[in-house]
Amino acid sequence: MSILKITNLSKTYANGVKALDNVSLELENGMFGLLGPNGAGKSSLMRTLATLQEADAGSATLDDIDILNEPAEIRKVLGYLPQEFGVYPRITAEQLLTHLSILKGITNPGERKELVKYLLDKVNLYDKRNKSVKGFSGGMKQRVGIAQALIGNPKLIIVDEPTAGLDPGERNRFYNLLADVGKEVIVILSTHIVDDVRELCTKMAIMNLGEIVYHGSPQTAIDELRTKVYQKIVPREELENYAQEYKIISNKMVGGQPLIHVFSDVDPQNGFEQVTPNLEDVFFSKINTSNVLV
Ligand code: ADP
Repeated sequence: MSILKITNLSKTYANGVKALDNVSLELENGMFGLLGPNGAGKSSLMRTLATLQEADAGSATLDDIDILNEPAEIRKVLGYLPQEFGVYPRITAEQLLTHLSILKGITNPGERKELVKYLLDKVNLYDKRNKSVKGFSGGMKQRVGIAQALIGNPKLIIVDEPTAGLDPGERNRFYNLLADVGKEVIVILSTHIVDDVRELCTKMAIMNLGEIVYHGSPQTAIDELRTKVYQKIVPREELENYAQEYKIISNKMVGGQPLIHVFSDVDPQNGFEQVTPNLEDVFFSKINTSNVLV
């Protein structure tokens, strides 16, 4: 069992944007979902943990490794699938993984061959090992990305926005693979897609404007909203009025009309009905997006 401890991490870019604002989190083995809208600071946090950029203040440790001050040590136990793992050379999956294994220090050819076979099997691409990665579908490329992140037996695996651009079938296969990987190590799944977290994670944090605005289990967050979420289909032209009067937490089109979810401690009446809250309600209530609805 490993423990990742992030304490008061802060980062302000040269342009004045505060991407990390006193971020503290503690993670154990398993799938951890870091959920936040675009621009929340997720990639800044992931890149800092992956030693690709520096923080201004704070600390981060993985067991006894000081991540910010011992980058070479953390890199040995880190698997990273960046948001843009998009530059694929015209070589086969097997060649690519072999090459990346050499870069990761697997120098023994026999051991390397075994490892590459194991990885190709694990991500279900062994049959495709002699095909050019460039021609792979989005989902297959992401599986190659996971295979390379698994080289060297990492204790910490970071995947940044991995499901963007995958079709539903590919996304499902990728979920199964991640769930399998996540049993033995710490996996941080950074995403703006609520479904990713609902499907995979027992622990999560929600990030907005550089801050952690929730840390706990998805179910606890949902329970906290119980009896406080109401819904109604409203005429589109009245949406603005509703936004003034109610705390709208989400707005979805259903059959061409807006279906709004509002947060309220008491029954708002006026045609609203109470609904069982879901993780999307949690997300939108925590990041408070009602101002961008109309
Ligand atoms: P997310 O991954 O949640 O979309 P990011 O960490 O990429 O968020 O970005 C957080 C904020 O920091 C955004 O406002 C973004 O525009 C800004 N930002 C990210 N990288 C840089 C950079 N290198 N220089 C300046 N601002 C940046």
